Amino acid sequence: MSDSANATTERTESGESDATGGPQIGAVAGKDDAVLRVDDLQKSFGGLTATDHATFEVERGTITGLIGPNGAGKSTIFNLISGFYEPDGGTVTVNGTDVTGMEPYEVAEHGLVRTFQTPRKLEGMTVREAMLVGPRNQPGESFLNLFTSPGTVGDSESANLADAERILADFEIDHLATQPATDISGGQMKLVELARAMLAEPEVLLLDEPVAGVNPTLAKKLKTQIRRLNERGTTFVLIEHDMEFVMDLADPIVVLDQGSVLTEGTPEAVRSDDRVIDAYLGGGA
Ligand code: ADP
Ligand code: MG
Repeated sequence: MSDSANATTERTESGESDATGGPQIGAVAGKDDAVLRVDDLQKSFGGLTATDHATFEVERGTITGLIGPNGAGKSTIFNLISGFYEPDGGTVTVNGTDVTGMEPYEVAEHGLVRTFQTPRKLEGMTVREAMLVGPRNQPGESFLNLFTSPGTVGDSESANLADAERILADFEIDHLATQPATDISGGQMKLVELARAMLAEPEVLLLDEPVAGVNPTLAKKLKTQIRRLNERGTTFVLIEHDMEFVMDLADPIVVLDQGSVLTEGTPEAVRSDDRVIDAYLGGGA
C-alpha cells in the first residue's frame, strides 16, 4: 500500500479492457442487472489504506468470486458493504438503494447478508437457538425476546422456528439442532452460519472464506448448498482462499490487490493473468 505502488497502477475506474483486447483492467462496468454496486469505496485504518478506490458490480444471479492475496482488503470490503464498517468515501448500492452508512440490520433488510470469516461464538445456546439469532438482529436480541417479552412472540417467530428447522434439514444438520452451539466442529459451525444467513432469505449473500478450516466432506456439502441456493436465485459473493473451490463455483472472479480491483474475468482468464500471479507472489500468500 505504498505510494509508489499506487502511482504505477493506472486504474480505469470505469473498468475497461485495453484497446488491444488485452487483459481487463479493473472491474467490468455497466452490468445489466447489478444487484450490488461498490463505487469508489475507501477505508483507512490510521495510516494504512485497506480499501483504495474499490469499484465493482455484482450481476444478479451470479456466484461472484472475490480473491486476492492476504491483506488485500477482501474482508474489509465485506465489512464496508454489510455496514459493519463505515467507509471514508464511496458508495454501496444494494438493489438500487444507497445503503452506505446503514447499520448491518438495515442493509440486511435491503436484502444483503454476510457470514464471518471466523464464526461468532454463540455461548449458552443450542444450534437451533443460534439459528434464531438472525443476521437482522443484534446477537442475542431476537432469541432473548422469546423469553423477555413473551407477549411479543407472534407469528413471525413461530414462522422463523419452522423455517430454521426446514433449513437445518435441507443442510442435513438437523441432528445437531439440540447440541450446544459451541460443541460442534468448525466445519459444522460454518454450515450453521450459512443456514442461519439463509433464514433471512437474502437476495445477496456474502461468504467470507466458507471452507477455511473445513474438512473436505463438509466443504463438498457447502459447495452443493451454495450451488443449490444460487439455482434458486440467491446471488453470492464468495471470498475464498481455496482456489480450487472458488474457481469451481464462481464466475466471474474479481481480483483485489492492495485495496483496489486489479482485474475481473472468468476463472480461466484470471488464472492465466500474469498480474494476478504477480499480486499473489508479492502478497506473500
Ligand atoms: P484480507 O481479508 O484480504 O486478507 P483484510 O481486509 O482483512 O484483508 O485486511 C486488509 C488490511 O487492513 C490489512 O492490512 C489489515 O491488517 C487491515 N485491517 C483490517 N481491519 C482492520 C481493523 N479493524 N483495524 C486496523 N487494520 C485493519
Ligand atoms: Mg479476510
